[in-house]
Amino acid sequence: MSYTYKMLIAGHWTGSARTQEVRNPFSNEVLGTLPVAGPEEVNEAVSAAEHARAVMKNLPAHERARILMRTAEAITEMHAEMTRRIVLESGKAWKWAHIEVDRAVENLRFAAEEAKRIHGETVPMDASAGSENRIGYWLREPVGVIAAITPFNFPLNLVVHKVAPAIAAGNSVVLKPAPGTPGPAQELGRLLLEAGLPEEALNIIHGGGPDVGEALIRDDRVAMVTFTGSVPAGKKIKEASGLKKITLELGSNSGTLVDASADIDLAVQRCIMGSFAYNGQVCISVQRIYIHREVFEEFLDRFTAAARKLIIGDPMDPTTDITPMISEQEAERAEAWVTRACAQGARAVLGGKREGRIFHPTVLIDVRPEMDVVCNEVFAPVVSLIPVQDFEQGISLLDDSQYGLQAGIFTRDIHHAFLAIKALNAGGVMINDVPTYRADHMPYGGNKNSGIGREGARFAIEEMTNIKFVCFNL
Ligand code: NAD
Repeated sequence: MSYTYKMLIAGHWTGSARTQEVRNPFSNEVLGTLPVAGPEEVNEAVSAAEHARAVMKNLPAHERARILMRTAEAITEMHAEMTRRIVLESGKAWKWAHIEVDRAVENLRFAAEEAKRIHGETVPMDASAGSENRIGYWLREPVGVIAAITPFNFPLNLVVHKVAPAIAAGNSVVLKPAPGTPGPAQELGRLLLEAGLPEEALNIIHGGGPDVGEALIRDDRVAMVTFTGSVPAGKKIKEASGLKKITLELGSNSGTLVDASADIDLAVQRCIMGSFAYNGQVCISVQRIYIHREVFEEFLDRFTAAARKLIIGDPMDPTTDITPMISEQEAERAEAWVTRACAQGARAVLGGKREGRIFHPTVLIDVRPEMDVVCNEVFAPVVSLIPVQDFEQGISLLDDSQYGLQAGIFTRDIHHAFLAIKALNAGGVMINDVPTYRADHMPYGGNKNSGIGREGARFAIEEMTNIKFVCFNL
């Protein structure tokens, strides 16, 4: 199996003298050679996007919506091949890659629908003494050129989360996908052009973050940076982006609280999915589960039994749950964190074992708040189960984090649900579900170190437009 990788610059698919390999994380087979951008290609891509700015601004909403809708249909027609691309490049299990493609299709449709709803309001100017003879209103305009930088873990849907609302709002884009998983972004670019997107409106360049990504961000013609990835990279990007608009979708150590009144069947089933889907390499993966002491033993037994049944194997097999992590270094890092936690008194009641890139589903108990596996983003199939005395202590520990992306609460007590909603400093609170729940039109993003701004078509469009106020002096 081999693929041809290209960059998309000014409507042309181009190669480069600089290259790097794209490999399958499961078989380590080379999937193809990726052209890597140099300063000239970054410059050409931004020039093309700058050139497309006026074209995009003048493209009517119905046309922008039609392009996005057609692209959604085209992805549906190649659903199996797109799923395969995701599996081969990211090592994501087929069952999750399949869902990612479904979500990307729906996400494109959400953006298409939102393209027709971008509008402002009138302002009652006579509310201000001396402004009685004025008529005021505001409208939303595209920001211009958007630099979009995306991670490896959802190589299609997280690209759609940036490119689709950018187009819906009438912007042009330079996209730099993660270099290990560039195929789905390239396919999306091809389908958008076939659907009628103006040639220079989407440019795709490849390469590493610190060189190609930073060169892109620093370009003065870029009006906005939208980034999804790790906290350390997010901090560098914020510094490099100067006064540009910015959206940062970063990591977390998301937690869930299982209250004494919780539906334990539901909590176990959802926590298994939340902790182990795509080997925990999800920004809203469940990493900490706080459990009321009255139900701790029952939850621990049932959760561990369910985790033991997860199937480790070939990502292409639709029955597989656990697959290789994205790299051996990442699997080694997870192993080192678990080993250190165990040396400090934690116990692995399941897993804790690494075989090459495969990290076995791991359930830890007797952890402490200062351990890496608890307070930093583990981004691996590793989850800590922590008993709490009461609901209040559970909420306080759940909220005690440098991150604030999403949180989950399992409770049948409506009063507790509302207390949790009020107390938690997070971008989203899921009642009777894990923090891993996301539908793609909802406002999504983090507080604290988890980021700045929100995604979900309507909310991303707000970030990707400027408000212009107009006033008539009659
Ligand atoms: P990463 O930060 O290593 O890389 C993400 C992207 O940023 C890649 O394209 C990379 O090349 C680029 N990059 C890295 N350093 C850069 C720099 N200095 N300047 C410009 N670009 C740079 O992240 P990853 O390993 O690909 O993804 C995993 C991380 O992403 C996790 O921390 C996860 O929580 C986070 N994530 C967050 C969300 C969210 O919506 N909040 C979603 C998915 C993943």
